[in-house]
Amino acid sequence: MSLQIQSNVSLKPFNTFGVDVRARFFAEAHTDSDVREALAYAAEHELELLVVGGGSNLLLTADIDALVLRMASRGIRITHEDCGAAVVEAEAGEPWHPFVQEMLARGLSGLENLSLIPGTVGAAPMQNIGAYGVEIKDVFHSLVALDRQTGELREFSLADCAFGYRDSVFKHETGRWLILRVRFNLSFAARLHLDYGPVRQKLEEQGIKEPTPLHVSRAICAIRSEKLPDPAVLGNAGSFFKNPVVTAALAERIKQTHPGLVAYPQPGGLMKLAAGWLIEQAGWKGFREGDAGVHTLQSLVLVNYGSASGHDLLNLARRIQADILERFGVSLEMEPNLY
Ligand code: FAD
Ligand code: NAP
Repeated sequence: MSLQIQSNVSLKPFNTFGVDVRARFFAEAHTDSDVREALAYAAEHELELLVVGGGSNLLLTADIDALVLRMASRGIRITHEDCGAAVVEAEAGEPWHPFVQEMLARGLSGLENLSLIPGTVGAAPMQNIGAYGVEIKDVFHSLVALDRQTGELREFSLADCAFGYRDSVFKHETGRWLILRVRFNLSFAARLHLDYGPVRQKLEEQGIKEPTPLHVSRAICAIRSEKLPDPAVLGNAGSFFKNPVVTAALAERIKQTHPGLVAYPQPGGLMKLAAGWLIEQAGWKGFREGDAGVHTLQSLVLVNYGSASGHDLLNLARRIQADILERFGVSLEMEPNLY
């Protein structure tokens, strides 16, 4: 028995909002057999099991009456290499940004636009993490997940994952799949994606004319550090709302009263609106009530100034949702996973 199960553990260090709730039981899984032990323990004691990684996409609104299993498995290996490309497999508990950095150090490109995203490799497929015009679906090879209902291992191909905008099959079949390891298609020949507004501009500011993947990563880290709060300093879970995709007619109606509307055309004649822009227009930027607030630089990010509870943050989020619906007729969907 290698799994150490503790009881009545504060989850404050394990969620980037820094919300202080307690887990009835808590353990860290370093191996597949730890995961199986945790599942057996949960079944034997009739407990729910909540798997977490870095806790950077969670809003915990109450004590967790379950076994919280934090994925801490480590390991990165190249499983296939030929013609300038490689398939790289990483264990679920690998921290995401150091993994990206290690790939760049090995000369492998594809993940550079996803630099500085907090969290773990195993959680990345959950919402098909994306930033600066790249999503993990663009470099995804396959993954191995444990079916918590049957205890069997299953391989997921790209098609099996049903990746969408901040979405995947894993988000819909909540609690069924425990992702153990993920494989990526990376390349020794750079395929850069620079066409997302601030990226080229930042590279130009830095005087870089022929960028490498490492340059792109550094530029993106610089952009992110300028406008996003560091969870180690100010509790947050990144973007709190997804960017809404609306009909062109609704976007046009909003534009009549708000000519500066930030909107990007989508397939099917739809428009993606920048949720942060809507929230800012509605006057929420920098709003604070108690210790729950809206970040002063990026309105899409809710922040915990210290002792906000999950409920305080959820109430603020609901007020913002209601206001945006009333003002613009747009429904905002929350991005973090609520427990
Ligand atoms: P957690 O928060 O621990 O878990 C998230 C969900 O995944 C939970 O439902 C959990 O049960 C489930 N889960 C975790 N691990 C596993 C596993 N191994 N198997 C099955 N289910 C699992 N996201 C983006 O997409 N793009 C960004 O640019 C971005 N920027 C961010 C910036 C900041 C400052 C912060 C705080 C967050 C940001 N995020 C971003 C959100 C977040 O970092 C990502 O969604 C990340 O992938 C979450 O990883 P995690 O390990 O912290 O997951
Ligand atoms: P931004 O550059 O201020 O842009 C605002 C929004 O407009 C973004 O959300 C982005 O949508 C969209 N956008 C900008 N340029 C676009 C283009 N060329 N084509 C299509 N859509 C475009 O955004 P930001 O808040 O600073 O974030 C920068 C990137 O990091 C974004 O990709 C964002 O998703 C990601 N990010 C995500 C989180 C999170 O927690 N999910 C947190 C921080 C940053 P998209 O979001 O669809 O890209």
